[in-house]
Amino acid sequence: MIRIGDVIEKVRQNHPQADLDLLRRAYFFSALHHRGQTRASGEPYLIHPLEVANILAELRLDEVSVATGLLHDVVEDTLVDLDTIRQYFGEEVAHLVDGVTKIAQISHASREERQAENVRKMLLAMVDDVRVVLVKLADRLHNMRTLHYLPPEKRQRIAQETLDIYAPIAHRLGMGRLRGELEDLAFKHLHPEDYNALAEQLEQRRPEHEAFLNRVKARIEEKLTEAEIPFVRVEGRVKRLYSIWKKLKRQRADLDQVYDLVAARIITPGNEIRHCYAALGVIHNTWRPIPGRIKDWIATPRDNLYQSLHTSVIGDEGQPFEVQIRTEEMHRIAEEGVAAHWKYKEGRRGAHEDDQAFQWLRSLIEWTQEVKDSRDFLESLKLDLYPKDVYAFTPKGKVIQLPRGATPVDFAYAIHSEVGHTCTGARINGRMVPLRTQIQNGDVVEIITSPNAHPSRDWLTFVVTSRARSRIRHWVAEQQRAESIEIGRKLLEKEASRFQLSIKKLLADADGEFKRVANEYGYGRVEDLLAAIGYGKLVPRNVLAKYLGPEKFAELEERKESKLKTSVREGVQAVKRLMRMGDDAIAVRGVDDLLITRARCCNPIYGEEIVGYITRGKGVVVHARHCRNVQQLMANPERIVEVEWAGRAESAVYPVKLVAITENRTGMLAGITSAISDIKTSIRDARATVSPDNRFVYYSIKKQESNIWLGSFD
Ligand code: MN
Repeated sequence: MIRIGDVIEKVRQNHPQADLDLLRRAYFFSALHHRGQTRASGEPYLIHPLEVANILAELRLDEVSVATGLLHDVVEDTLVDLDTIRQYFGEEVAHLVDGVTKIAQISHASREERQAENVRKMLLAMVDDVRVVLVKLADRLHNMRTLHYLPPEKRQRIAQETLDIYAPIAHRLGMGRLRGELEDLAFKHLHPEDYNALAEQLEQRRPEHEAFLNRVKARIEEKLTEAEIPFVRVEGRVKRLYSIWKKLKRQRADLDQVYDLVAARIITPGNEIRHCYAALGVIHNTWRPIPGRIKDWIATPRDNLYQSLHTSVIGDEGQPFEVQIRTEEMHRIAEEGVAAHWKYKEGRRGAHEDDQAFQWLRSLIEWTQEVKDSRDFLESLKLDLYPKDVYAFTPKGKVIQLPRGATPVDFAYAIHSEVGHTCTGARINGRMVPLRTQIQNGDVVEIITSPNAHPSRDWLTFVVTSRARSRIRHWVAEQQRAESIEIGRKLLEKEASRFQLSIKKLLADADGEFKRVANEYGYGRVEDLLAAIGYGKLVPRNVLAKYLGPEKFAELEERKESKLKTSVREGVQAVKRLMRMGDDAIAVRGVDDLLITRARCCNPIYGEEIVGYITRGKGVVVHARHCRNVQQLMANPERIVEVEWAGRAESAVYPVKLVAITENRTGMLAGITSAISDIKTSIRDARATVSPDNRFVYYSIKKQESNIWLGSFD
C-alpha cells in the first residue's frame, strides 16, 4: 500500500519549491473526514484519494493538483462543504475540488447512450483549469484498477463511460500511457471473453515475441553504434490489447496478420530531431521498408502534439514489424501529454494550425517559451475549448448543446417545437427558475409544459437560438392571423345580416364566387380576405358589393330601406288602438301605420317635445325630449326617428287630474286655483284633506280641460 510520505517525496523531487505542508494537511483532513468509510473492496476509503494523489505525483503534477487528489471526494462523499475546503486550503484547491465535484455530477446525469462526444465537450467546457481534468482522469484510473470489486452492471456502465469519455479525453490531452491503461481495463470488463482469449493468445506467443524483440533490439543498437548515432535506449513493445482487438475487428483479420503487433522504439537524446532522421536511415539500410508505411509525425505532429517517426520493415525472418523513432522530449509528450508540460522548459515548433480545439495547447506551448516560472505557467492553464457553447441535460440524461446565454425556452425548443410552444416554466437542478434564466454547463433542465399554454411574444427578448426565435415568431404571426380572420368574419357577418344574407352560405361558397372575390382583391384564399377585413384593410360593405355585383347590391340596399319603412307602418295602427287616443294622436313624421308606444319612464303627454326610438318588437317608443333616457338612446342615432303630435295642438282637450301636497298655510288653496285660472283652465272638481298631524294639505283637483300640461297621475 502506498504511503503519504512516498507521495510527498515524489512531489518534492519534481517541485523542490513545493508547499509540502499543504499535502500533509490535505492528507490528515481527508483521513479525518473519510474515517469509517470503506470502499467496495472492504479497504478503508482513504486508500482511494491516496492512490489518486500518487498517480498525480507520478505525472509530476504540482502540489496543488496532488492535494486536490487527496481531497477530491471530500465534498462529494462527506459532510464537508466547499467553503470549509476554501477556508483550510485556499481558493486554488477549492476551485479544483469544485471542478472535480461538478464533473462527477455530470457523469451521474449522463445516462443516455451515444452522446459521448457531447459529454466530452461539456466536460471540457465546464472546467477552466486543465488540472481538474487531470485529477478526474487519475480518479478514474484508480477506480478502473479496482473495478472488479463492483457488481457487474455497475462495472459495465463505468467501463463503457471510461471508453466513451475518459479515454478519448486522455487521448486528446496526449496522455498515451494513461489512455492505454484506461482502454485495456475497460475492454477487460466490457468484453471479458474476448479479452481473456486475446490475452491468452498473446501470452502463448510471448516467448516468441520477446525473443524476436530482443534480437531486433540488439541489431538496432549495434547498427546505431556503428553509424555513431546517439540514442538513449531501444525498447521493444507489444501493442496494447484493446488496440489489437479493435484492429482485428476492423480488419476481420487474425493475430498473425497484424503488422504492428510488436514494435521497436528508438529514443534519441534531448530534443535533437536530426538524430531521429539519421536513425531512420540506419533502419532502412538494415531492413527493407514496406512502401506507404512510413509516417513522419515529426514534420506534421498529430492534433494532440504526438511526434514520432514510424516505419514498417520486413525482418530477417520475413516477419514485418514496426519501428518508432523519437526524441526523449517527444517520448514524454507521447506518454504524458499535457501533464508533461509541467516541467517542460524548452521551446518547440508549433503544432499545425487547423485544430481549433487544441488552440489552448498550442498557446500553452508558445507561452512556455517566454515564461520560466512554473507557478505563472500553471495560472496560464486556462481551458477554453468550446467557449461558445453550453451543455445541459434533460432529466433523462440526454445532452442538449446550446449557445452560451441560452435559456430554458431555447432548451425547450431544442427538444421539440411542441415542447417550446407549451412551455410554462422550468426547473434547473430541481429548482424553479424564471424562463429567462441563462443555462450553465452541466445544468439539468426540466421543462414544465401545459397543453393549453402558448408562446409569449416576450420570449423574443431573451431567446438566443435561431430555432426558438423563428418558431416563436411563426406562432405569433399565426395567432394574429387567426384573430384577424375571426374579426373579419364577424364584421362581414354583421354587414351581411343587414342585407338578409347568411354568412355561412357565403363562406360555404368559398370554392366558387366568394373565392373569386378574394382573388380579385389579390388574395389566394378566403381566409386571407377575412384576415384583410379583420386588419381593417378592406371594408366589409365593399366586399359584399363586389360579391353581389352592383345591380344586386343596389336592389338589396333598396329592399333594406323599404323593409324598415314597412315595419314602421305596421306598428302605427296598433299603437293608436293601444292609446285610445284617436288615429292621429302621435305621428311619426312622414310615416303611417307605425307601432307607437309611450315610454314608461317619462310618459309624454300632448304638447311636450317628443322623440321616437325604433325598438325591436315594440315599434317606436316615444319619449319626452327631456327624458334622461333619451341621452343614452342617442348613442344609436340611426334608430332615432322624428315624431310629432298629430293635428293642431291647441284644439285638443284632455281631462287632467292634479295632486298637490303643500304646507298647511293660509291662502294656499286660493293660490293654486288662481294659478290654474291664470292659464285659462276651468276646474271640474277639487278636494283638500289635512294630514292627521295637521302639517300638510292634500289637494286633488280635476280640471275640465287643458291645453297645457301641468303634471299627470292616474
Ligand atoms: Mn474518487
